[in-house]
This record gives sequence, C-alpha cells and structure tokens, in this order.
Amino acid sequence: MREILPVADARDVRRYARRLARTYPRDLAVSLSLHALAAISGLAAPRLLGNLVEDVEQGTTRGQIDDIALVIAVFLLAQTILTRFARYLSFKLGEKVLADLREDFVQNALALPIGTVERAGTGDLLTRTSRDVDALGWSVRFAVPETLIAIVTALFTVVAVLLVGAWVSVPLLLGVPILWAGTRWYLARAKAGYLRENASYAEINSTLAETVEGARTVDALRLAERRRQRIDADIHESFEAEKYTLFLRTVWFPIVETGYLIPTVATLLVGGWLHSNGQASLGDVTAATLYVQQLIDPVDRIISWLDELQVGGASLARLLGVAQVPDDRAATGRQPVHEEIRADDVRFSYLQGRDVLHGVDLELRPGERLAMVGPSGAGKSTLGRLLAGIHPPRTGEVTVGEVGLTELPLDDLRGHVALVTQEHHVFVGSVRENLALAIDDIASDERLRAALQAVDAWEWVEALPAGLDTRVGSGGHALTPAQAQQLALARLVLADPHTLVLDEATSLIDPRAARHLERSLGAVLSGRTVVAIAHRLHTAHDADRVAVVEDGKVSEIGSHDELVAADGSYSALWQSWHGDGVGSRT
Ligand code: ADP
Repeated sequence: MREILPVADARDVRRYARRLARTYPRDLAVSLSLHALAAISGLAAPRLLGNLVEDVEQGTTRGQIDDIALVIAVFLLAQTILTRFARYLSFKLGEKVLADLREDFVQNALALPIGTVERAGTGDLLTRTSRDVDALGWSVRFAVPETLIAIVTALFTVVAVLLVGAWVSVPLLLGVPILWAGTRWYLARAKAGYLRENASYAEINSTLAETVEGARTVDALRLAERRRQRIDADIHESFEAEKYTLFLRTVWFPIVETGYLIPTVATLLVGGWLHSNGQASLGDVTAATLYVQQLIDPVDRIISWLDELQVGGASLARLLGVAQVPDDRAATGRQPVHEEIRADDVRFSYLQGRDVLHGVDLELRPGERLAMVGPSGAGKSTLGRLLAGIHPPRTGEVTVGEVGLTELPLDDLRGHVALVTQEHHVFVGSVRENLALAIDDIASDERLRAALQAVDAWEWVEALPAGLDTRVGSGGHALTPAQAQQLALARLVLADPHTLVLDEATSLIDPRAARHLERSLGAVLSGRTVVAIAHRLHTAHDADRVAVVEDGKVSEIGSHDELVAADGSYSALWQSWHGDGVGSRT
C-alpha cells in the first residue's frame, strides 16, 4: 500500500471535538435546556399511569380517569412541541459546526506541500474530501445531536425511576454489565475496522484514477489485465474489510437486545415480589416498569449512534490528519535584499535515498534568459521546480536576495518567482475571480484590464456576455485552451514576479493559437529573468546563456557560441541536431 497522509490520534480528535463543542456555547446551552424540558414532560405519563392503576385498584370514578388522561395528553403535547424546537436548534447548530469543519479542512488541504500530495497520491486526498467529509457530516448533523438528546433523556429517566423507589436500581444495574461488555468488545474492534474500510476505498479510488489518467499508457503497454487484477485485489480487500465490520455488528446487536430485556423483566419480577410483601404499591411497580421500558429507547439510541460516532471519529481523525503534515516551508520573516536567485550545492530527492539532483550550483543574472537543456530525465524540470520554490532542496540552498525561497510566505514568493507550465486550470467563478487569485487585494478594473491587454486577451474578455464578471470554468462559459492559457499569463502579469521558470513542454495547442500565444508570452517575459527548460534547441540558441543539465548536475554553462566552441556535450548535441537539417527551422 502506498504511503498515505497521516491520521490524527484519539487525543487530538477529542481535543478538537471539545474545541468545536465550545464554539457556540449559547446555542448549545439553549438547545440542551429545551431537550431537558422535553424529557421532563415525557416523564409525566408513566407516573400518572401508575397512579391510575392504583386508583383503579382502590376504586375510582370515570371523571377522574378522564382527568388523568387529559393531563397525560397535555404533557405529551408539550413534549412534542418542545422536542420540535429543541431538534430544530440542535440541527441548526450541527450545520454551523459542520460548515466550520469544512472550512478548516479546505484550509488544511490547500496548505499541503505539493510533494506530500504527490507521494500520497491524489486518491487519498480525494477520499478524504468526499467520503470522510460526508461521513463526518452525517455524524455532526445526526449522530452528535441525537446522542446528546438521548443522553439528556436517559439521565432524566434514570432520576425519575429512582424517585419511584431505590430498589429499581437493582434491575437496572443487571443490564449494565451486559451492555458494557458487549459494547466495549465492539468498540475496541470497530475503529480499526472502519479505518481499514475507508483506507480500502481510498485505494480503489487511487487505482481507478491512475488507470483512467494513464489510459493511453495502459493501452500502449497492454497493462489492462494487470490493472484489472489490481482493481480486483482492491475490491477484494474492501469486501473483506466490510465483511469484518458486518461480523462485528452481528455479534454486538443480539448482546445489546439481551441487555435491554433483562432489566425490564427483572423490574417486573422484583417489583411483583416487593408488592406481594407489601413493600411497594402497584402504582410504583407499574411506573417503574414503564420507566425502565422507556429507558430502552434513549439507551438504544446512544449505543447505536456510538457506532456512527465511531465512523465519524475515524473520518475526523483522517481529516485532522491532513493538518498534521509537516509544512515544508516556514516563514522566517526575512526579506530578500536583491532580486538575484541562486542555487548552492543543491541536492534533492523525491524518494528517500535516491537523489535526482547531485549538487547543483547556478546563479541567475537579473534580466537574463537562461535555457536549460539536457537529456530527458536529467533533472531539468526538478531543478526548475526548486528554482521556483515549489520544493525545498534536501541539502544546499535556493535563495532570492540571500533568503531561502521556502522561507518566504507563498504570497510573497509569488511576487518573486513563478513557474509557468502548460497546465492551466480555469477555476469556477468569474474572469475577475480567476485573475484575483494572483493578488491579495481586490484589483481595480483598470489593473485587470491592463494585465489582460498585456497578454492580448482584453478583446475577447470584453466581448464576453458579462465581461469581467462572466462565469467561466466547469458549468460556466467555455474557454478555449488558448484563452485559458492567456488567463494564466494575465495572472502572472498581476503577480509581477521578477523571475519566471518556463517549462516549455510540447504545446498541445494548435499552431495558429500557439503563434498568438507566443506573442502573449513574449509580453509577459519581457523585462524579467527567465529560466526556460528547453525541449527544442532553437530556444537555447536564442538564449543569453545555456545550462546543460546532465545526470542531476549542471555540466556546462555559457553562451551558445561559447559552448559550441568548447566542444563539449552541448556542442555535440547542437552538431547532431543541426547536421540532421532539423536546425534549418531556426
Ligand atoms: P527532466 O525534466 O530533465 O526530463 P525530471 O526533473 O523530470 O527530468 O526528472 C529527473 C528524475 O526525477 C527522473 O529520474 C524522474 O524519473 C524523477 N522524477 C521526476 N518527478 C518525480 C516524482 N514526482 N516522483 C519521483 N521521481 C520523479
């Protein structure tokens, strides 16, 4: 199984739950008080019924019976009305708490270091955002309020039954060890069982997502059968996990049922025996038996919601775990003293013990255009990501103006250096919101227009149905890939970093759009330091300097002419490329 994101331990979960419970103290107090009043109203009926039985035994009138029935009805009505408002308030409280939880989780998920997400696979994060948030939502909406209601009701019922007679504690206590032992047995196993169940869903999600994302590769390498086996294995594991938790429930439920029946029966027997000895009235025995029976319902609800609470707790543990990933950047408050980015003896590994960069030194000269060339897999993109501050180096430093890139808060970092790739996600929202992602403050229309004009995009944005306020992204106005790329470029203009790292992966955009985009890109690049990861040599030819990356090191660096004259790897590369006549394009 792949390395998954951390899971919070029980102590952290409890601490967080306590903190949540204290967020809205007034709402909690009001709804608990209403539930208490509702519970008290519900306790009137058994006592009155007990009195009624006694009255009948001793002789009574029809009018008296009618009066008692009326009083019972009034209490029932009061209970119904109180319960209605109490529930309304507690569910509303649940929704508020859930909203807070969701916001916390989104914050934590967004703060995750990219490296961690890549290692854990997106499947795990996906399962946590979907299944775990749902499970927790269910708990917070229903399990928590229902349990609280049931606890309040049970407590008052126990007090009522003990007021009837202390002797009822004996039959009540008979049920406790059975319920206690059975539930303990279950809960000790359930948490691990449900965690395993959830992890197995994450595994299925990951495998499916990988298979779909890599469908072409799977096809090309004829991996379909192997992928299918993998998915079958994942489903099998999931089935086993579900079977186990089902087994737990089939043992636990019958034990619990027995635990309810015994006190009821015992109350009748003990009460009957006391009554025949003249130590308890018939009314008391009736009321006690009814109370004990009435106790079954809240206790059963507590116990069965415990199950749900466990599921919710397991999900909460996984959601809180996301916050426990150690941050790979720490703001130190130091500010760069100039705009020069440099790498000193940088080593980096994706997997422990396997460095892909082996001591890179590189100094960017402000305003220059540096092309990075070299065989595929040499570490160009990796070095690019380090120069853009996406990953911290394992050892060595990447600095801007003598401050480590990962010492800068992300918002500051973006103002210094940015990575430009072919990935351009359009977020759901207006064009304005898509642009505003780059900046903290709300930019004036003037500024947005200037940025869009710089990348040649103002014309089409202006022509959109609602201009800057047109909704784009999934479900909104559809943008072409070139337009999406232009929005990404306009974001760069707004963030205004002095250095750009450009990963020139082969463009998927059609050549006509590509020419247009090249103009937009040119406008963004001008006046900035640019590191271009060149997959085509003619880009290198046009650059101020060329760095040759081989086997995780910069092996040669200098201008095109210098490197050709030096007769090293670059020269050989250039000769072979140029010699083939491909170079005539430049
Ligand atoms: P280039 O850009 O020169 O083609 P890369 O920087 O992409 O090279 O890759 C350098 C090495 O790091 C390669 O061996 C590659 O397999 C490995 N690598 C790249 N990305 C990852 C990743 N996310 N996880 C593990 N290894 C990676």
